[in-house]
Amino acid sequence: ITSMTSANLFPGVKVILVETSHPGNIGAAARAMKNMGLTELVLVNPLDFPNMQAVFRSASAGDVVRDAQVVGSVEEAIADCQLVIGTSARERRIPWPLLTPRECGEKVVTAFRGEQKVGLLFGRESRGLKNEELQQCQFHVNIPTGEAYSSLNLAMAVQVICYEVLQAKLADSHDAGNAKEQWDLPFADSAAVEYFYDHLETTLIQVGFHDPDNPRQLMTRLRRLFNRVRIDSME
Ligand code: SAH
Repeated sequence: ITSMTSANLFPGVKVILVETSHPGNIGAAARAMKNMGLTELVLVNPLDFPNMQAVFRSASAGDVVRDAQVVGSVEEAIADCQLVIGTSARERRIPWPLLTPRECGEKVVTAFRGEQKVGLLFGRESRGLKNEELQQCQFHVNIPTGEAYSSLNLAMAVQVICYEVLQAKLADSHDAGNAKEQWDLPFADSAAVEYFYDHLETTLIQVGFHDPDNPRQLMTRLRRLFNRVRIDSME
């Protein structure tokens, strides 16, 4: 019997699967995670769960499947996260700070060493993550592929990202002390940042700067602006 605690090398780092349609993918993702030392799985509105297919496909990661937290929205899944990274198979209209899988692994490990909560967001098999979901992330990560086919199976994408997270941890375990991010206050979590955007939007409407009937990409651009400075909890 493997206990949860010894299997989890990354407490506070969650893999979040959004509206997964195939339970088999949930199981395969759980296995990919546990192989790399991650065990915190969150499912946002899974289409068909619990389902034995998920347990079968997880092989010896049944504990990860059984302990998965099921929530009703992405907001709920990331509310306590100070670093949120979204995966994406394609370019979006307004480009976001983009990481390679390797850089993503390093960011996650640096945040983990700084005791930040981290969410890694994975999208629907059919259509990935929505723009509004991607805009709640500080960074996007794209797994480079052959040109002809850029969309990996969901669990395979989880495998690649979790592999890079573990490799980054193994690489810096010699000088763990140096890897901490230097900042005096904790970074704001997603819930606090969302309150801020709500308040900002209302205020901009009240002062007549923002026209909700003709929003252009104002809120998206403001999200990208504030995103670049990493707001802390005091700010
Ligand atoms: N057809 C969808 C792709 C869905 S693939 C689209 O065009 O967006 C399901 C999920 O696997 C994606 O949401 C993402 O989380 C992950 N994924 C697949 N391929 C990826 C890639 N090349 N880079 C990063 N994530 C990828």
